[in-house]
Amino acid sequence: MKIVRAGTLIDGTGGPAVRDALIQIDNGRIEAVTTAGPGTGWPSGTEVIDASNLTVLPGLIDCHDHLAFHGYELAKRWGLDEPRSTWHLRTATVARQILEMGYTAIRDAGGLDTGFRVAIQEGLIPGPRLVLSLAIISPTGGLGDRVSPSGHRAPADNDPCLPSSVADGVEAVRTTVRTMVRAGADVIKCATTGGASSRAGHGPKDSEYSLEEMKALVDEAHSLGRRVMCHALGGPGLRVAIEAGVDSIEHGSYLDEDRELIPMMAERRIFYVPTLTVYEYHRESPAPHVRERAHALRAHHVESVGRALAGGVKVVAGTDAGGHGHPANAGELVCLVRSGMTPMQAIQAGTSWAAECIGWDDRIGTVEKGKLADVILVNGDPLADISVLTDTNKIALVIKDGQIAANRLPR
Ligand SMILES: [Zn+2]
Repeated sequence: MKIVRAGTLIDGTGGPAVRDALIQIDNGRIEAVTTAGPGTGWPSGTEVIDASNLTVLPGLIDCHDHLAFHGYELAKRWGLDEPRSTWHLRTATVARQILEMGYTAIRDAGGLDTGFRVAIQEGLIPGPRLVLSLAIISPTGGLGDRVSPSGHRAPADNDPCLPSSVADGVEAVRTTVRTMVRAGADVIKCATTGGASSRAGHGPKDSEYSLEEMKALVDEAHSLGRRVMCHALGGPGLRVAIEAGVDSIEHGSYLDEDRELIPMMAERRIFYVPTLTVYEYHRESPAPHVRERAHALRAHHVESVGRALAGGVKVVAGTDAGGHGHPANAGELVCLVRSGMTPMQAIQAGTSWAAECIGWDDRIGTVEKGKLADVILVNGDPLADISVLTDTNKIALVIKDGQIAANRLPR
């Protein structure tokens, strides 16, 4: 048994911070959360972790990450510049580093295969809990159609662990969803528009799927018990995704341009994962068309976050990291605060609301009795300065599943 004596507890529910809390952890679960008494009389063998000058929070969750992406250049994206083994070990290093930064759960939005989930579950490598999408389902010419400017196909398209994700027409879309589930997908990732970094000529407001195709995709995913996370920035494709009933809109940079969309999202309980971090990166891109798109969407994106919050849509944290943003994924929480969220809302966006978004709110996302013991100890007050969560030196202790995953406490 472990007892964490918390100076301040921010439990992730959005309730006020509690002074002098005791968190009792046993068998990987939170057994009790109480207010500190004299702190004696524990059973022998109890490990007492003194965090009386620290802030305790739930383990952080990133709802949109790409652990296996290490850069945007073609050679990196396609894995041409190093052996596959080196690539995998690079990914394993990122998994460990983000866990050590307090990220105990990640929803991967494409590129990571189920071997990593097995490796982490078996303890071969340290890493966060994983919710995997494997690959991005899109039509020919869409986001998941990996063709170079010279017309060549990505060699990784032959990897059976990351099945081909190009599907045209209702039947092919259904088959591709089934193929992803067969390969181990926990969630279905798709795209209905281009993005900032998609090829020149296919931008954030250019459509990918028809409403019929998207309805088939969502129906097939839901009938197999999988949620749908949809890359959609703006234009008609954004509306198609919402009308088809996806479970989360990823990026959603131009939600502000159609007044009907946010009320529709609120009514259908569609989560919003704005991924503000990646556009900070794209604004510095060497590719002029990427830079231009990232600058053009900026004001709309911030406006969309504000309106979504005001309209009752749950805004959750996702970095779209990969080649940037790792391991300080909490940079997204800083971006959310800059876009008008309170620090407490940003913490919810990265804990309890994120857990709801990935369908794991029965297990993680708050420090409450019965939850899995994913808890972090932070040196500082994230309600006063959210950026403490991005500082390696301030993430003093990370507990995942009741086990210490990183320890920077003074000895
Ligand atoms: Zn992404």
